[in-house]
Amino acid sequence: MIVVCPVCKTEIEDKKAGGAGEQDGENYCFCCKACKKQFDEDPNQYVDKK
Ligand SMILES: [Zn+2]
Repeated sequence: MIVVCPVCKTEIEDKKAGGAGEQDGENYCFCCKACKKQFDEDPNQYVDKK
């Protein structure tokens, strides 16, 4: 499945993701560990609030 890295908006194959995380019940995949680290530092910046 193709997913979009929420940090840098790059499309990636979820199986090849550099990391995964969860915020507010939603799962996210990241293209690399650096993006996951950025996300973990400030998740709300990357999560769409509905
Ligand atoms: Zn990324």
